[in-house]
Amino acid sequence: MKIAFVSSEIYPFAKTGGLADVSHSLPEAISERGFKVISMMPLYKTVDRKKFGIVPTDIEFNVHINNKDYHFKVYKQKNGVKHYFFHNSELFDRDYLYGTPEGDYPDNDIRFGAFSYAVLEFFKITNFFPDVIHTNDWQTALIPVLLKAKYNWNNIGSIHTIHNIAYQGIFDKFAIERLNLGWDLFHMEALEFYDKVNFLKGGIVFSDAVTTVSPTYSREICTPEYGYGLDGVLRKHCHKLFGILNGIDYKVWNPETDPHIYLNYSSENIEKKSENKEIFLKEHNLSDPSKPLFIFIGRFAKQKGIDLIKDSIDDMAKMRANFAILGSGDKLYNDFFNDIKGKYSNIFIEVGYDEPLSRKMYASADFLLMPSLFEPCGLNQMIAMRYGTLVIARKTGGLADTVKDISEPHGYGILFNNPDKGEFIHSLLRGLNLYQDEHTMTGLKRSVMNLDFSWDASASQYIRLYEEIKFSKGV
Ligand code: ADP
Repeated sequence: MKIAFVSSEIYPFAKTGGLADVSHSLPEAISERGFKVISMMPLYKTVDRKKFGIVPTDIEFNVHINNKDYHFKVYKQKNGVKHYFFHNSELFDRDYLYGTPEGDYPDNDIRFGAFSYAVLEFFKITNFFPDVIHTNDWQTALIPVLLKAKYNWNNIGSIHTIHNIAYQGIFDKFAIERLNLGWDLFHMEALEFYDKVNFLKGGIVFSDAVTTVSPTYSREICTPEYGYGLDGVLRKHCHKLFGILNGIDYKVWNPETDPHIYLNYSSENIEKKSENKEIFLKEHNLSDPSKPLFIFIGRFAKQKGIDLIKDSIDDMAKMRANFAILGSGDKLYNDFFNDIKGKYSNIFIEVGYDEPLSRKMYASADFLLMPSLFEPCGLNQMIAMRYGTLVIARKTGGLADTVKDISEPHGYGILFNNPDKGEFIHSLLRGLNLYQDEHTMTGLKRSVMNLDFSWDASASQYIRLYEEIKFSKGV
C-alpha cells in the first residue's frame, strides 16, 4: 500500500496551525505501521532548507496554466517519512504562506492550483503511482478533481480531509479558465458555488472519501449553523463522510523530555509542574503561586472565542488568579492585546507566535481556556492535558469529543454550552472553585496526563479507510 499525503503545511518545515501538526504526525504514525508514505508540500521561502537538510533532486518540469509555464523543481528530505518539496520562485518565495495580515494573496488559486497539477505531474514523471492520495483543506482540494476529471486516473483512490470548513478557497469563476479546468466543471454538482469557484467543494464532490477531524464536527458541518454554505453538499455526500479524531505526536509533546520547559516531569512527580509554574510566574512578573494560572494559546480569530476573553478582561483582572495569553492573528485583536499589555498586574500578554513560550505555558498552567465558537478538533486541549493542565472549553466539535465535564462520572474538565460572557465567566469561577480543592486538582491533573490522545486509534481508522478505498478500486 502506497500513500501520498499532500498538505500546504507540514511541521516542522512550515506551520500556521494544527494542519501542520497533523500533516507531520499522521503520516509518521501510518509509516510506523509499515506502510509506504510520502508527503508533499510547497517549498516556501520561509522553510529553512539548511536546518532541515532539504536538498534538490533532478526532478523538474513545467505546469502550463494561466497562459504560461510555471517551472517546478522538486526537493527532498528523508526523516522517517520521505518528504518532497515543490519549488517555484514566483509562487512560493513570499514572506507568508497564504497572505499578509491585511489579507490573502490574490493569486492563491494559481499558487495552489499550480501546486496541485505539479503533484500529479510528479507521479507521471517519477512513475510513482500511489494507491491512495490523501489531500487536506482547500489548498490541495483540487487534486481529487484533477485526478478524476482531467487525468482520468481512476485506479488511484482519494481521501480529502477537512480541517476547518470556514476556509474553502473561493475564487471568481474565471479561475476555471486560469486553471485550464474546463467550463464543464462549472456546475452545481462540481466546482460552482454561487457563481464562483470553490476548491473545497470540488474536494468533497470528487474524492472517494471525505474525513473531518472529530466525530462531533462531522455532524456539525452538515448543519447550516456550522457548514459555511457547504452543509447541503455534505449532506448529499454523507455516505462517504467520516469523523476521525486527530491525535498529537507523543514524541513531540512530552513533559518528560521537552527541552523548552524549566523542569521535566511526569504524572509520577507532578509536583515539578508546580515548580515550572513558580519560575514562569517570576519570569513574567506575575505574583503568588498559590493562585491558579489560566492560559490561552491560539490564533486571535473570532473562531477561537477570543471576543469572550476580550470582553471579560476587566472581570479577569479582578479575580484571584493569574492569566497568560499568547497568540496573534487578526489586526483588531493584535491591537487590543498590544494596547492592554502591562495594564493588569495579574495578566501576562504576548502577541506573537512563540513555540518555546507556548511549551512553558502548557507546563506551568493549571487551566487552559478554549472558549471556541467552533473547533473542528483542536490540538491545544490535547497538548495541555498531556502536560497535566485541565481544560475549560466550550462544548463544540473536537472539544466535546475530548473533554468531559467534572459534573459527569469520571469527568476531568470544565465545559460550557453557549458562547456568552455569562457562561464563560461562570466556567472560570468553577475553575477557581475546583482549584481550592488541592487533592482533587492533583488527582485530575494526574488522570488527564494518563489519557491517550496519541495517534494509535485514529491511525488504525485511517488505515482501514485507505484499505477499503484501495479494495474498491479493484487494484
Ligand atoms: P488551529 O485552529 O489554529 O489549527 P489547533 O488547536 O488545531 O488550532 O492547533 C494549534 C496549534 O498551534 C497548537 O500546536 C498550538 O500550540 C499552536 N499555536 C497556536 N498559536 C500559537 C502561538 N501564538 N504560539 C505558539 N504556538 C501556537
